[in-house]
Amino acid sequence: MVVPHADRTSNGRLRGILGAALAGKTPDKKDCRYLLGFPARSMEAGVLRATANAITRRRFDNAGLMLGQVGVHMAPCDGGCAFCAFAKPHTTIRESTLSTEESIQRANAFSRGGVTGIFIMTMHRFGFDWFLDYVSQMRKHIPAQTELLANVGDMSVEQMNSLKAAGMTGAYHVVRLGEGRDTHLSPSQRLATIERIRAAGLDWYNSCEPIGPEHTNEEIVEQIFAGAELGCCQHAVMRRFPVPGSPLFHHGRLPLARLAQVVAVVALATLESETVRSIAVHESNVLGLMSGANALYPEAGEPEESPGNAGGEPGESKEGFSSALWRRSQEITTADCRNMLAEAGYDKVVAGAGKGRVLAHPKD
Ligand code: SF4
Repeated sequence: MVVPHADRTSNGRLRGILGAALAGKTPDKKDCRYLLGFPARSMEAGVLRATANAITRRRFDNAGLMLGQVGVHMAPCDGGCAFCAFAKPHTTIRESTLSTEESIQRANAFSRGGVTGIFIMTMHRFGFDWFLDYVSQMRKHIPAQTELLANVGDMSVEQMNSLKAAGMTGAYHVVRLGEGRDTHLSPSQRLATIERIRAAGLDWYNSCEPIGPEHTNEEIVEQIFAGAELGCCQHAVMRRFPVPGSPLFHHGRLPLARLAQVVAVVALATLESETVRSIAVHESNVLGLMSGANALYPEAGEPEESPGNAGGEPGESKEGFSSALWRRSQEITTADCRNMLAEAGYDKVVAGAGKGRVLAHPKD
């Protein structure tokens, strides 16, 4: 396959890195720092993104993937993360728990929309026995091809084995950018949990997050490579939403163009990883899908009636949460994500073991 993008620059070093990537070679950390050094609006960054896009299409057979999210318990959180809407020192939210019936309903809407799996999210501290019982109930009422995945605090191997026995197949866990500096949690404890996830035979979902404009290329590259080296099944990039009243609010938000540039570097940095099966971008957007990402995280499942009524009104008071709570906007649905994948030229979405759904493309 000849992909000409890498030739469209007079920069010899860039041509060399991208040409090698097209031939299947992962750039090293130094090269990745170099790739992140171009202004997001530059031709060099454009050529980088176009090359990562072409590589991802070939690597994943032009198939997209969606993973849902259901926040089942929220409360002022001891994690104390300086970027988070739930952190105890600055949060305004009140404790609430989503009923299992409501969770099952939301999960089935995700399943109808064609997600591969659903993250069940809690705060850093959570009652393990309660959570185990909760996901066991969910598992009985959700189609078997839709995986259940944990996005919770640190856990022991025994706890992971119990979740696995209850039907969970993976977990999201990250040593975040600024972990221990911008959070009350220890990087070594987070890392130990990641190693336990791998040891328990669960799929490990990773992300370079939460990126803000202040993060250096060095920090970003170290975080990207740590994930690739530890054997994640999915690498991703998520930008930080500036939460009013939080200590990092004043830094503002990373532009989408820069987010897409980091996506492109993640796609190249994981090129030779045998475990990575998809590259995600959050929040969901078409530019990320055109820059090396093939996976999105819808915040709500398939709308029942019309697309406009799926996520409720912005800021509407309700129990449970998704990442839309941070933006105080409507939730992005599975239908929205399928549209984005189709608009970006993906042919299909992977919707469970060996199954897929062909995307209806917009008319030219
Ligand atoms: S990011 Fe997670 S651990 Fe940190 S405060 Fe928010 S909910 Fe807690």
